[in-house]
Amino acid sequence: MNLEFFNSHYQPLSARERLEELYKHYPEDKILFTSSFGSTAVILLHMISQIRPQQKINFINTGYHFEKTLEYKKLLTDRFNLDVVDLGATSNRHKFTSDNLTYSHNQNLCCFINKVDPVERVKRNYHIWISGLLQFQNVNRANLPLFVKTNDIVKFHPLLDMTEEETALYIELYDLPIHPLVEEGYDSIGCTHCTSMGTGRTGRWMNSSKTECGLHV
Ligand code: SF4
Repeated sequence: MNLEFFNSHYQPLSARERLEELYKHYPEDKILFTSSFGSTAVILLHMISQIRPQQKINFINTGYHFEKTLEYKKLLTDRFNLDVVDLGATSNRHKFTSDNLTYSHNQNLCCFINKVDPVERVKRNYHIWISGLLQFQNVNRANLPLFVKTNDIVKFHPLLDMTEEETALYIELYDLPIHPLVEEGYDSIGCTHCTSMGTGRTGRWMNSSKTECGLHV
């Protein structure tokens, strides 16, 4: 893939147009799509369900999600008729983090075992990895391009430059269901052990310098 060409060609397009364009060139079985069913996930899930309904959705199941996230996942799966599969650590590796309380003293290792490694194991089957990263959510994402080559796969961020206002308008325009924890004061939602109430991503890994799970850096 000529990244320079793809980045300049896709830049003027809307998020939806970018996805439509991508699916002209790549079959869905060569596209890896992951979702945490967090607070902004509904936008990309809605677009994909309309543009390429047969796209498989990989739910990164850490085993530490809020019950309300699992309920929200079911709601969106039924509403959009999504093909969702769980992607997670093997049971013995997950059990290690659970018995060892790894999330309390080595969050990087816990995220690696429960999030990064499960994706690493399937990445080689795909050419492109679609992710719903938004620039406004984290300064570390400010300079990301739409397409970026990582070790062994090209990552694509079709929503990257949507503003906070645009994401809210999209949700309002299509009357999309909002994650129930948003109403309770959680702007960003991950695992129970590492998520607190807060604006933006301030509620994630609150008592540590960690800002990303490692999937996207
Ligand atoms: S967010 Fe917390 S509980 Fe979830 S995988 Fe990472 S360290 Fe573990």
